[in-house]
Amino acid sequence: MADYDIVFVGSGFACSFFLRKRLQVGPSRARYLVLERGPVYPHEKQVADRRNSPIVAADTYRLETEPRDGFTKSWLFTIGFGGGSNCWWAGTPRMLPSDFEMRTRYGVGQDWPLSYDDLVPYYAEIEQYMQISGPTDSPFPNMTPYPLPPHRMTDPDYALKAAFSDQYFNQPTARASRPLDTRNQCCANGVCHICPVDAKFTIMNGMREVYADPRVTLKTEAQVLSVDVEGGVAKGVVYSEGGKEHRVTGDTVVVGANAIFNPYLLLRSGLDSGPVGQGLHEQGSVRALIYYDGMEGNNGSTSVTGHGYMLYDGEHRRTAGAALLEGWNVPRFRPDFDRWTQISELYIVVEDLPQEINRVVVDPEDETRPLIRYKSQSEYFYRGIERVKAELPKVLSSLPVERIEYLPLNPTEGHTQGTTAFGTDPATSVLDREMIHHDVRNLYVVGNSVFPTGSPANPTLTTCALVTRSAERM
Ligand SMILES: Cc1cc2nc3c(=O)[nH]c(=O)nc-3n(C[C@H](O)[C@H](O)[C@H](O)COP(=O)(O)OP(=O)(O)OC[C@H]3O[C@@H](n4cnc5c(N)ncnc54)[C@H](O)[C@@H]3O)c2cc1C
Ligand code: SF4
Repeated sequence: MADYDIVFVGSGFACSFFLRKRLQVGPSRARYLVLERGPVYPHEKQVADRRNSPIVAADTYRLETEPRDGFTKSWLFTIGFGGGSNCWWAGTPRMLPSDFEMRTRYGVGQDWPLSYDDLVPYYAEIEQYMQISGPTDSPFPNMTPYPLPPHRMTDPDYALKAAFSDQYFNQPTARASRPLDTRNQCCANGVCHICPVDAKFTIMNGMREVYADPRVTLKTEAQVLSVDVEGGVAKGVVYSEGGKEHRVTGDTVVVGANAIFNPYLLLRSGLDSGPVGQGLHEQGSVRALIYYDGMEGNNGSTSVTGHGYMLYDGEHRRTAGAALLEGWNVPRFRPDFDRWTQISELYIVVEDLPQEINRVVVDPEDETRPLIRYKSQSEYFYRGIERVKAELPKVLSSLPVERIEYLPLNPTEGHTQGTTAFGTDPATSVLDREMIHHDVRNLYVVGNSVFPTGSPANPTLTTCALVTRSAERM
């Protein structure tokens, strides 16, 4: 008999939401082990130390990249209990139905092995559980009302809403618009990677009942080194704790260590079939500063207040990436007397297509870490950015815009994706539609790494919906 029913690798969104559903629907006597590489780093300590973890993300991998026009790509995540829930900004849009069907609709990328409709009940479940603040209207079909009212938008948001009533909305977010038992009300400080008032949903403040369940054992500072695979069956994992190597067995292994470490751990475990490690990608963004004549730019009630879909879906996606416009309310000032606040920031998030050439491998110089070989974002992405710049003056034409100033490309969105794609064909995917490894049928690999394509939408709500679905059907 194995030591545990399920051994989880990582305590971020993917594993924690998988575990939550198993606690609901699994046997009452099941035993679950969660192995987390980083420490528990409490919220108060994060605020005091101004960091999410004592482990610096960039020290955990090596990057080989080719700067393009002076721009160098980087990757960001949190190593520690709760993973990316510590540093995320808690934007929680759903993806659109077309995001799941890029090949069928636009002839690019790959279709997902399931559809938007398959995820609808799970999206709704997670939105309720995370107590999302959101609008009564939205671009998403088959919505259940959000549990909390939306945040107040800024004046530029309201003007865009008036001009594009069915394409501009309040951003749905896990930054609370009302005080809750587990979280405070968001007060628009705009430093959400370390929210000083603990207003955003995190695994630490929102999933206490999951980790307090007597069926769950959490070991932190326990780094998984590989999955033990014998005869096509995952037997458990090898991990290091306190400077020693340990083995633990499990009936099922769920790897949710993020899109850099998921493929790395598969490769370290001898699981190199299919496109494992290939297709590392994420959305990219540019920020535009919009200077107004007489309009206040920073009077919303949270950090990101608006979501614009005017440049998102359509035939242009055959050749150029879709764009999601985020109306920001993080204070910006202009150096003009009496007009300091007649400015706002628009975050323009553009999708990228995964490319085989961008990949994660085991570092040949030091096999204890991954090597990221990243050439650059695709031409599809760059055409998306150029399209937005060409269209933006028209989009903003109903606002009293004096000028638009573009800042350089952001080095990372923190949305690592695509390195263990799920799909129906083992030649082009690593996992099946349940996120089970094609060859090792008791091994799940979960998180954003399963995304065969990435929409411009933030990925985490979709990841939580995906794992909730798979854990229910297990
Ligand atoms: C600054 C920032 C802002 C973001 N804002 C948003 C947002 O607004 N909306 C949104 O949708 N997404 C956002 N994201 C992305 C979001 O954080 C990720 O989508 C999410 O965390 C992915 O969940 P995951 O469980 O797959 O991975 P993670 O949350 O990264 O969890 C992986 C876990 O595995 C652990 N681990 C790694 N290796 C090992 C090992 N060998 N052994 C044991 N444990 C291991 C890690 O320590 C970590 O706890 C943001 C990210 C960043 C960096
Ligand atoms: S806007 Fe401020 S209060 Fe709201 S989640 Fe971000 S940091 Fe916290």
